[in-house]
Amino acid sequence: MNYTDLSEKPDFKTVLKYYGVPFKTICQQCPFPRHDDKNPSHRHWPEGTGYFCTCSYGDSFNFIAYMEEILEPGERFEDHPGTFKMVQEISKTIFEQEQEDII
Ligand SMILES: [Zn+2]
Repeated sequence: MNYTDLSEKPDFKTVLKYYGVPFKTICQQCPFPRHDDKNPSHRHWPEGTGYFCTCSYGDSFNFIAYMEEILEPGERFEDHPGTFKMVQEISKTIFEQEQEDII
C-alpha cells in the first residue's frame, strides 16, 4: 500500500499510538498542549474513529491539528486556509511510519 492520496487519513488508533495516547472511551486528561484540562474531559469514540473533548472534537486530522498546535482549541480548519494541508503532510509521515512498523 502506498500513500498516494493525501486525502487518505491514517487510522485514528494509529494516530493515538504515534503520539503515545492510550485509547479510552472514558474521560482522560486532554493530550493537546493548549488545553489546560484540569478535569479530564477527553474521550474516544467507541468505534475508534475519533474523539470528543470540551476543547474540540473530530477525527484523526483534527487530532493531529490540535496535538501539533496547528489549530488553537475551538478553531476549525475552515477558519485557517492552509492548515489542512499542513496536517495532511504530518498525516503522511504517520502513515509511512506505520507501514514501516508493519514490515
Ligand atoms: Zn481538550
